[in-house]
Amino acid sequence: MAAVIIDGKAFAAKVRAQVGAAVTALKAQGITPGLAVVLVGEDPASQVYVRNKHRQTIEVGMNSFEHRLPAETPEADLLALIAQLNADTAVDGILVQLPLPAHLNAELVINAIDPTKDVDGFHIDNVGKLVTGQKSMVPCTPLGSLMLLRDSLGDLNGLEAVVIGRSNIVGKPMANLLLQQGCTVTIAHSRTRDLPAVVRRADIVVAAVGRPEMVKGEWLKPGATVIDVGINRIQPAGADKAKLVGDCDFDSCAAVAGAITPVPGGVGPMTIACLLANTLTATCRRYGLPEPV
Ligand code: NDP
Repeated sequence: MAAVIIDGKAFAAKVRAQVGAAVTALKAQGITPGLAVVLVGEDPASQVYVRNKHRQTIEVGMNSFEHRLPAETPEADLLALIAQLNADTAVDGILVQLPLPAHLNAELVINAIDPTKDVDGFHIDNVGKLVTGQKSMVPCTPLGSLMLLRDSLGDLNGLEAVVIGRSNIVGKPMANLLLQQGCTVTIAHSRTRDLPAVVRRADIVVAAVGRPEMVKGEWLKPGATVIDVGINRIQPAGADKAKLVGDCDFDSCAAVAGAITPVPGGVGPMTIACLLANTLTATCRRYGLPEPV
């Protein structure tokens, strides 16, 4: 195996420790950052995420406000809760866990969040600011992926980056962040012709597809840096337990890549660490304090 394995778990712990130290300093000034998380329904994966977010929010010294609503909650009730959280001075960040049940309009709900408290960075104001290079709240998974890339590669100017996936949550914001860093960016998706040939151009490959082990080592340019955002639960033949795999075929990719994130232990832990970092940023902006870098 040639590639350096990028340790997202260790990097995320470092980010959380930095956030924790900043929270301690804020508390000494009488300010405790607060994060409100809203979960509608009983989606099992969402429940796990919300539980982890709550635990890690408390661990860095912030206040965590959890709002669990039944799956059949009317849209008006959810919007009323968001209005209440927008007005609540103890709340610096608001996150509505996605996906929402089908009867709720996710776009409407997300855009009801005060953009300065939108720590997921999905509000249309924050999306527009990111695209136009203005100060914004940056979506957590792409932000975490960028931190890992900067740590591995340093200056990204001039590098060829291929982002596979064009979702609003991962692919598009990731591509915009890489563009800001001076990369030449290609966004690939399900209609892309000859994906292996496109991927072979890349110094940086970000896979955010949701297809287990789709990207193969033979698609990669030797030495490429691979960020595997995918989280897929598969049941290997003959095994009694399901296992998590990424969107990249780890063994074949690690044999060709220069560096690669594992799944689990790569991008995953960075997402919550960046959520906490964004909450800290929102708090500092609100009080006109210097922002953490
Ligand atoms: P979406 O399903 O919203 O988007 C998937 C994208 O992949 C789409 O743009 C789709 O193209 C593209 N795609 C699908 N099939 C192919 C294919 N065969 N070839 C090329 N492109 C293809 O997923 P998300 O962006 O929300 O998530 C992607 C992955 O990242 C998932 O595994 C998810 O679990 C994981 N994830 C991990 C997070 C973390 O914390 N680590 C956070 C968020 C997501 P098209 O638009 O044409 O349909």
